[in-house]
Amino acid sequence: MNIGILTIGNELTSGRTQDTNSSYLAREFSAQGWQVVTMISVGDDEAAIKRALEFSLVAADALVVTGGLGPTQDDITTAAIARAFDLPLAGNEEVLDHLKKTFERFKLKWSENNAKQALFPAGAEIVVNPVGTAFGFALRRGEKVVVVIPGVPREVLRMVPEGVVPLLQGIEPGPRTFTESRTVKLFGLGEALVDEALAEVDFAARQVTIGFYPNFPENHLVMTARGSDVSEIGGRLDLAEGEIRRRLNQYIFASGKETLEGVIASLLTGKGLTLAVAESCTGGLISDRLTDVPGSSEFFEQAVVAYGNGTKSNLLGVPAEVLAAHGAVSRETAVAMAEGVRRLAGVDLGLAVTGIAGPGGGTEAKPVGTVSIALADAQGSIHRDFSFRWDRRRNKIIASQAALILLRDYLRSEGV
Ligand code: AMP
Ligand code: MG
Repeated sequence: MNIGILTIGNELTSGRTQDTNSSYLAREFSAQGWQVVTMISVGDDEAAIKRALEFSLVAADALVVTGGLGPTQDDITTAAIARAFDLPLAGNEEVLDHLKKTFERFKLKWSENNAKQALFPAGAEIVVNPVGTAFGFALRRGEKVVVVIPGVPREVLRMVPEGVVPLLQGIEPGPRTFTESRTVKLFGLGEALVDEALAEVDFAARQVTIGFYPNFPENHLVMTARGSDVSEIGGRLDLAEGEIRRRLNQYIFASGKETLEGVIASLLTGKGLTLAVAESCTGGLISDRLTDVPGSSEFFEQAVVAYGNGTKSNLLGVPAEVLAAHGAVSRETAVAMAEGVRRLAGVDLGLAVTGIAGPGGGTEAKPVGTVSIALADAQGSIHRDFSFRWDRRRNKIIASQAALILLRDYLRSEGV
């Protein structure tokens, strides 16, 4: 089924209010397996509403409209839609009665303009509003239907699952369709290279569409399949995911709603290991991410933001000779920081990052984006060096990601 979305309100076209109804409706309808073919916003303007109705109904089987059902003069949606379809307005006694009772119950003073909310285009079906006074309505025009609900997001949130979706399910032609999506999250390979790695996979032949969603510093790949049989859709997604993993598994660190820090938290907790972190250029980002995971106190013992050389040597015990010979941004310093914080906190693992976030501080030998990461355990340490090429904030974010990836790789290696 093809669906159009039309949001109405001067607050939308003036930019005062962000149109969150459209994206909410689009998500809900897509989840039903329906195709959203148009999304239009217009002001509280009769001519604009009429043009938008006509345009939407060219491609859409059903049009869902939000906004402009209030009691005040500026809300004209009902009257505009009635006139566009050449229908008179008719009062609905039940709705009027309900409105008056609601006013009594809340001890509100009734004014006559409220009666406007009991007027609907002749022949319309009422869509109940369980949380407000503006009721919605549905109008059938031949094979097509126009459903109108108020714009208040809290009311939309109730009326869509309770009223609009069941109504549209009732008019859906043909067998019911389902949509399922699956996400895999990658790090360490640019979008274009991910695309290239998958060039030979014929997703279309498997009736799976694939979407690329860069989410710095990660790349998310979303597979979507539609069909009338849920288990058959699942089978198609399994095959598609298998093709992706066969080619890109080393870059995939999570799927679905999982996060990198969540994956690490499970690994650390599962193995009963504890961690401390020494952060220079990331300024606490790694610790922030790890402590976002509920239950992180189970493995997370201590963090030191060792920004200055004094802290690196006094608190973490980085030898002055190491700092002098190799500099604060060096693998030798990263290793000494990791070993130092591990010792200081008395934990199993020490993770450390040092780097040049920019925009200043770079040299020819160590340009902005130079980052060293180290991880120490009781046996020794491992380290990785990077040269990132982003601005200050993104260099910090990607450095935190690289450090967490090093930790994850270690936790998944044999014998740990
Ligand atoms: P209305 O139903 O037009 O009286 O809208 C009532 C209030 O809901 C407006 O003042 C906005 O704050 C909010 N609203 C209306 N339409 C939208 C929309 N498309 N997205 C988000 N908020 C909206
Ligand atoms: Mg309005």
